[in-house]
Amino acid sequence: MDISVRELRKTFDRYPALHDVSLDIQSGELIALLGPSGSGKTTLLRLIAGLEFPTSGSIFYGTEDASGKSVRDRQVGFVFQHYALFKHMTVADNIGFGLKVRDRSKRPSSAEIRRRASDLLDLVQLPGLEDRYPSQLSGGQRQRVALARALAIEPRVLLLDEPFGALDAKVRKELRRWLRELHERTGHTTIFVTHDQEEALELSDRVVVMSQGRIEQVGTPDEIYDTPATPFVFSFIGDSSEIPISVSGGEAHVGNRSIGVFAEGLPDGPARLFVRPHDLDLVSDDPQTIAAVVTAVRRNSGSRFVEAEIDGCRSKVEIELPADDMRVFEGRIALKPKRWKIFPDAKRPNSQ
Ligand code: ADP
Ligand code: MG
Repeated sequence: MDISVRELRKTFDRYPALHDVSLDIQSGELIALLGPSGSGKTTLLRLIAGLEFPTSGSIFYGTEDASGKSVRDRQVGFVFQHYALFKHMTVADNIGFGLKVRDRSKRPSSAEIRRRASDLLDLVQLPGLEDRYPSQLSGGQRQRVALARALAIEPRVLLLDEPFGALDAKVRKELRRWLRELHERTGHTTIFVTHDQEEALELSDRVVVMSQGRIEQVGTPDEIYDTPATPFVFSFIGDSSEIPISVSGGEAHVGNRSIGVFAEGLPDGPARLFVRPHDLDLVSDDPQTIAAVVTAVRRNSGSRFVEAEIDGCRSKVEIELPADDMRVFEGRIALKPKRWKIFPDAKRPNSQ
């Protein structure tokens, strides 16, 4: 089912947690809400669920205005980071809980509920665990049971708030892939909240990047990574260096030196150039390059990194080299970006 969020605003005691957020989610899509802690992800999810009501704005489920409806009427399935299963209930009873508490007319028989719980355990790849108690499961298994419970009510939308956040890195990575496969089989419209960019990029069809209660960018993982729309998105997603520059006559300068980067169509004035570590080349010195001084060389299993300070400003940049590039770099170097993005500095407009 499509979900449409229109100019949603939420304030808590006059503190704005969400500012006029609009978003269209397509039926069957797995969308990630990604942003640092406090950016408004949970608030947006709770508003979509009906656990919280907006200060203004509306939410449509398909063509139906769901803004005033209760959680139950919206028919949503949830999984939260710490959404503990009921400890005193077996796995099967936990999964069947949402069905058991339905009005008598809509409630399946006990046998039917148990059959559905078994089917869902097969679906989440935990067959045969019906009679276990939550304390007898690992953290990853519990979250899969929580997902089975969310699916039991045949939700119109699945809302997951950092569901793997409390698990260790390895299990989290496995569950991420597992969830993607499950989504491909079941096709539920799913909204997944995370502050982990890798999780968002790997898992979702589209990513919504949030900061300070606003949407910075909505796009496919490739779009978000390759063409970040704002300085925030560029520095939040993936590694990057930021170089203060000035634009004049369609060229980028560091200090008085033109660095061989065209900035056509950008207004004259101060700006910031963003570049990823693998998009900076070490070149032989020539006048049209960025001059820098090496401050450190590091390596990890896949790459070597040269860290350098740009002449004329205090900015540090990082250059990534293949692991087998054993050239020695020290002292003065010259750099040339292969790919970059320049954002004019809105706060310090050129006086003209
Ligand atoms: P996230 O999930 O991205 O970490 P939240 O949506 O939880 O962010 O919070 C966004 C902002 O709204 C935060 O500054 C938070 O302190 C505030 N906030 C959230 N819920 C409440 C609440 N019930 N009362 C007051 N402030 C809240
Ligand atoms: Mg949150």
